[in-house]
Amino acid sequence: MSGSTVCTVCPRRCRLAPGALGACRARRNEGGRVVADGYGRATSLALDPIGKKPLARFMPGTLVVSVGGYGCNLSCPFCQNAEISQAGARDVSWRAVSPDELVAIALDARSRDPRVSGIAYTYNEPLVAWEYVRDCARLAHDAGLVNVLVSNGCVGDAVLDGLEGLVDAANIDLKGFTDGFYDACGAGPGALERVKAVIERLAADPGCHLEVTTLVVPGMNDADDEIDAAARWLAALDGGCGRDTIAYHVTRFFPRWRLTDRGPTPVETVYRLADVARRHLAHVFTGNC
Ligand code: SF4
Repeated sequence: MSGSTVCTVCPRRCRLAPGALGACRARRNEGGRVVADGYGRATSLALDPIGKKPLARFMPGTLVVSVGGYGCNLSCPFCQNAEISQAGARDVSWRAVSPDELVAIALDARSRDPRVSGIAYTYNEPLVAWEYVRDCARLAHDAGLVNVLVSNGCVGDAVLDGLEGLVDAANIDLKGFTDGFYDACGAGPGALERVKAVIERLAADPGCHLEVTTLVVPGMNDADDEIDAAARWLAALDGGCGRDTIAYHVTRFFPRWRLTDRGPTPVETVYRLADVARRHLAHVFTGNC
């Protein structure tokens, strides 16, 4: 189609007609160029304990100004934030927050509470508007703030290239350890391999503290073997990281959005799977229990 273009940010590789939005609702074709529709459009702004991201082993006890926009390149049926992640600009209320303004908000928060360490890009999938993360993160570093990324990690290397040296800590979802699980999340082909490549790259980056989270959904990814394989793989990562540095969060699902046909993950299941992960990893945490 004349004027159409392909977005290469994630494995979905949406072909966008002029003016069209991608599947994530946060990127669009503007004059033959793919731009971030969600750039600087904040739907959520809050001061959170860093442990809530979750980050257990990075600047514990500090607070981060947390910003979220709209859109996501996945459509996990159990999404816990579907009201913003599965929304576009017309479906949700947002306000413009420029990178300068976001950093000013964080500095103001720090002036009132010295526990404020930086900014977290979180709530929806921040990397569907990764250019905003990049621009905010540069200014944040200039101002002496740290940058925390909470992401599904299902993006191409060019996105990580664009963020090189800017992310101080990341929590990346490892949603499951099978292609079938990522298919159920609406990811494009090769999504699991892509997420693994992103985790591998961040694990090898001495400038980025990495933690990983799996939300355990009953009947979907709660087999001992699957968590064992994920933890074994995490522990074996190259780059001088692995057993002693990667923290792994095993968290509890609650029925949300399109997955309301089952109850919350039994707490005993979360504890059991955490013990499975501890066969390989030294720092395993349970969440939502
Ligand atoms: S980020 Fe992914 S879902 Fe969004 S437009 Fe690009 S390829 Fe499509």
